[in-house]
Amino acid sequence: MSSTKKTLHVLGLSGGKDSAALAMYMRKNYPDLDMHYYFTDTGKELPEVIDFVNRLEGYVGTIIDPYEEVYTSNREKKNFDFHLKKHKNYLPSPQARWCTIQMKLVPYELWVNKKMKDEGYEEVVSYVGIRADEPERTGFMTNSISENYMKIKMPFREDGIDRNGVFDILRKADLFSDHPDVISYRELKELSESEITAHFSALVEKKHRDPKYKGNVDAKTLQKIVEAMDDGKPGYYGWRSRSGCTFCFYQQKIEWLRLKEIYPEAFEEAKKYEKAAEDEREDGTFYWLGKDTPLSTLESDARKEQIEMNHKKKFERFLKKKNKRRNALQIAVKEIDTDYMDDIYDEAEGGGACVTCYK
Ligand code: SF4
Repeated sequence: MSSTKKTLHVLGLSGGKDSAALAMYMRKNYPDLDMHYYFTDTGKELPEVIDFVNRLEGYVGTIIDPYEEVYTSNREKKNFDFHLKKHKNYLPSPQARWCTIQMKLVPYELWVNKKMKDEGYEEVVSYVGIRADEPERTGFMTNSISENYMKIKMPFREDGIDRNGVFDILRKADLFSDHPDVISYRELKELSESEITAHFSALVEKKHRDPKYKGNVDAKTLQKIVEAMDDGKPGYYGWRSRSGCTFCFYQQKIEWLRLKEIYPEAFEEAKKYEKAAEDEREDGTFYWLGKDTPLSTLESDARKEQIEMNHKKKFERFLKKKNKRRNALQIAVKEIDTDYMDDIYDEAEGGGACVTCYK
């Protein structure tokens, strides 16, 4: 990985598992590489994403926010709300994805260009977490100017690291080992399933008694969150499949329902953004879920039940197909839908989002 040119090595973290595992992998296997880790905070990240990035910083070293590097004065950060206002409250969507461009790519390119100008870097190598088991594709949003000096490297693909390899890296790093819920869960491991269920029911009750706690999480979901952390993954992988903004339009309906359950205030905020978009355009608007489908359409009990049932069926169908190809020993492994959300819904990994946001 050496070059005679002065090379800037960069690795972008999305808050997701693949880029995090790649950062750990590079730190361990290429400790002499002067890697610059970065994470672009959009101002609308889940608290769990921020917590994960902070924990990761303890493992790999400094993680910078390109925006902070480019604008050093006290000016207002150009985050989601800033750009939404500029776009007259028009919500981002797969067709008009100003969010990634304005909040992530523009600060990133400005930062890289500044480093080249100020510090004499001649080329940039960007490391991305595309795994060996993923189909051939690029999945990057760059422009023709940056392509002139930027090379993309995919160490996982080159070194044959697949999804299980990524999980293995996260498990070994064990970033949540000091989390109180993980500590108490680890003490239960020898207990029966019903005793573990009773533990989570008691934990949920305790959370609900806490006046500072705003969510409506149930015992089953809480168990999934803690199991994800026990596996070295951020807790959000217990209920949603991607990192990225709290109200990213790439999430599935079932994930919106879970957001409402776990972060009801964030769901209400997402509805407020829709209302502002509606007020701006009386002739109709795109909502987070697309045209004519405001989030309120998910809220009736009947619709909720329908979405949950549909998701359950799809997941079961997916598992049946998947397990046909596995031996009995592998089938004993506990599967979680969030690890396969895009496969379950027959979408390319990331559901169309580029690696900047979900990896
Ligand atoms: S996570 Fe979703 S909403 Fe956020 S920048 Fe990426 S595509 Fe846009």
